[in-house]
Amino acid sequence: MALDCASARDRLEEYRRGELARAEAALVAVHLEACEACRAARARDDAVVALVGTLPRPPAPPALAARIAALGAPPAGARRWLGRPWVAALGAAAVVALAVAPWVRPGPGRPGDPVEALLRAGIAEHRRILMQLEVAPAEPAPPDVLLERVRTATALQVPRAFAGAGDLRLLTARATLLAERKSAAAALQAPASPVTTYFVVPGRDLPVPADGRQEIGPYRPYVREVDDFSVYYWKQGDLAYLMVSGPDQEICKSLFLKMRQAL
Ligand SMILES: [Zn+2]
Repeated sequence: MALDCASARDRLEEYRRGELARAEAALVAVHLEACEACRAARARDDAVVALVGTLPRPPAPPALAARIAALGAPPAGARRWLGRPWVAALGAAAVVALAVAPWVRPGPGRPGDPVEALLRAGIAEHRRILMQLEVAPAEPAPPDVLLERVRTATALQVPRAFAGAGDLRLLTARATLLAERKSAAAALQAPASPVTTYFVVPGRDLPVPADGRQEIGPYRPYVREVDDFSVYYWKQGDLAYLMVSGPDQEICKSLFLKMRQAL
């Protein structure tokens, strides 16, 4: 069985971390060997990971970052160019600026709706977390230690409620990229409920769609059902939140309320 691009991209992050089963990692390697676009995607991810840790905090001033971003990433296919260190550095800097700086808006050439991209990425990440929990049931580290790690890696205000809210218990937490935004993910579970992943994402520029919102108590999150998953999306100030859970809407509403009221 060969992987298509979407399946390969879904697995790139786990591949980078060496978390895939050997057979699956081999499939990804075969695809990367044959697919330049996915190799470029992987190189961008690696550059982000390598550089995020070296960024000053707060990141570069807006004017500088905007100038770097305006240079754009080198076009796919320009592999010889990518091989030149200064070009690679500029491209990587632009990608990092986009990933960590909410004030750098995506360029007009970027296709698709940013909320839709975020929802899709959230579901993909939730599925990865489910797969990983099947292999290694839960992190042995205490919630505070886990969340502190994620805070350090993302420089995000990871809410205290991600450590557990009401009868929600934290299973694992990680720093991740959702649609090129640095995000914190926390998988929690309540009794008799499916594993549910909550994400917090820098979202100053993100809208909340007017249609498709549901009234739940005093709140009106945007709710979508995709395949066997439900996605709840809402904003608080400059932060956007996602909740990805199972298909049962009554359970989802209760899981949403538990977290929303604790935030
Ligand atoms: Zn591909």
